[in-house]
Amino acid sequence: MADCLFCRIVAGDVDADVVHETERTLAFRDINGQAPTHVLVVPRVHYDDAAALAAGDPEAAAELVTAAAAVAEAAGHDDYRLVFNTGPSAGQTVFHTHLHLLAGRSFTWPPG
Ligand code: 5GP
Ligand code: ZN
Repeated sequence: MADCLFCRIVAGDVDADVVHETERTLAFRDINGQAPTHVLVVPRVHYDDAAALAAGDPEAAAELVTAAAAVAEAAGHDDYRLVFNTGPSAGQTVFHTHLHLLAGRSFTWPPG
């Protein structure tokens, strides 16, 4: 999708600090990090949200999680938080599936 920011990052048309790549995923640092490690893991193919990805490409959905775990392990984090914001009122602002990996500090629950 030409007008999708994360499609443009996957295509290399927009710069990003890429930290991990797999066949189906790309992981890059969030531009506005909320933790010492804040990485976004996205499928290379466009889906609007996590449920759409899981329905359309279950292997890619699983690969988002295994990629995030690999990034966490490589950064030395045993504990981390994974988040899929889905829909505007849940905080989704970019409508290309992305898994937030947050690590390197303590997190509270419930989230804000
Ligand atoms: P959402 O709010 O949709 O769950 O997450 C979107 C995330 O994308 C936000 O955390 C935001 O900081 C990040 N973001 C927005 N624009 C860019 C960008 O151009 N580059 C990178 N690396 N992250 C971005
Ligand atoms: Zn996209």
